[in-house]
Amino acid sequence: MKKRLTILGATGSIGQSTFDLIRRSPDRFEVVAVTAATNASALAEMARATGAKLAVVANPDHFDELRGYLAGTDCRAAAGPEALIEAATVDCDLVIGAIVGCAGLRPLMAAVEAGRTIALANKEALVTAGALMIDAASRAGAKILPVDSEHNAIFQCLSGSRTQDVSRIVLTASGGPFRTASAAQIDAATPAEAVAHPNWSMGAKISVDSATMMNKGLELIEAHYLFGLPSEQLDILVHPQSVIHSLVEFVDGSVLAQLGSPDMRIAISYALAWPERMPTPVQRLDLAAIARLDFEPPDAKRFPALRLAREALEAGGAAPIILNAANEVAVASFLGGAIRFGDIAALVEEALETSDLLAPTSIDDVLAIDAEIRSKVERSMKAAVH
Ligand code: NAD
Ligand code: MG
Repeated sequence: MKKRLTILGATGSIGQSTFDLIRRSPDRFEVVAVTAATNASALAEMARATGAKLAVVANPDHFDELRGYLAGTDCRAAAGPEALIEAATVDCDLVIGAIVGCAGLRPLMAAVEAGRTIALANKEALVTAGALMIDAASRAGAKILPVDSEHNAIFQCLSGSRTQDVSRIVLTASGGPFRTASAAQIDAATPAEAVAHPNWSMGAKISVDSATMMNKGLELIEAHYLFGLPSEQLDILVHPQSVIHSLVEFVDGSVLAQLGSPDMRIAISYALAWPERMPTPVQRLDLAAIARLDFEPPDAKRFPALRLAREALEAGGAAPIILNAANEVAVASFLGGAIRFGDIAALVEEALETSDLLAPTSIDDVLAIDAEIRSKVERSMKAAVH
């Protein structure tokens, strides 16, 4: 029996890596639905190649284009938020959650509530609605398999262990492109410098997050919800080679780590094949050639996003939503050339300071807080420019 998959965010970096693995193992997988934001031609190409029955563009302006590209196939084209929910809840064995940002929240929650198993890359959904999603998953019997490489590593290390036997989780961080840069160099970094990640090839938003180290901050919050551990039991360790993807320390002092080449296809394949494993073309680890592994503590002075994310995690309530919304807006503005690199963390800090919003009790609440913070940060950026 083939595993039937739905890929949300099929045209992105994670979506394409997933597609690459599926294409190499046609006997294992069948794709039923694929979605994208706007790129109708890439989406249609994937729908044709996989034989998907439903293709959805989130932005309705691209519907006619998508329908045109799919003419003569038995793949139905659809568009808009309702169609995205339809794709997320279509009957299947595994939903790949690979949309970037808060945009993935409603479709993911719909998949959770439908009791699906979800391979989750979309960390912003857990950061902003982690408690709601984990609760809904336990009510609906949905499983969440982490695809983020650190969380996937932890998931692998934890396999078969009891939570109470874990004393600490250590998330490794490459340190990003500015690991050795001075505070002044970091402040003045350009978008091209910020997206040039030393080890991983990823989408633009997460690449900037890696450069500010907000990515590791978001991952701290993601780990809290996925593994049910408090802030005190979650640590970050800078490891420039990105060979150890994360570690778990147990109460007896044992530490388990998961190692591999820095290639997202390892983590994706683990979620795709779970509870089995499948072969991948990923470069094998040659430790003798790598020769050494380095470690250093994270520097929250040069990378204030680490401190802000930790504070948001500990504050709880709406704070992680505020952190994420302010960061999404600031990163988009930075990529658009409107603000400096150093302004990203400053805008996030300002948003966190000036907010007294209540904890969300529904996805509507989360999205309302998200929208409020976005417009607040937009206003604050405009005020700074004028
Ligand atoms: P990407 O920008 O390459 O792709 C994002 C996908 O989401 C695209 O298919 C895009 O069409 C879709 N999308 C964007 N906005 C949308 C909207 N408003 N509505 C519907 N769909 C929308 O991003 P990526 O690098 O593939 O990352 C995807 C997610 O996985 C992110 O949350 C990221 O943090 C996480 N992640 C990525 C990597 C990686 O190596 N790329 C690693 C770990 C975690
Ligand atoms: Mg990661």
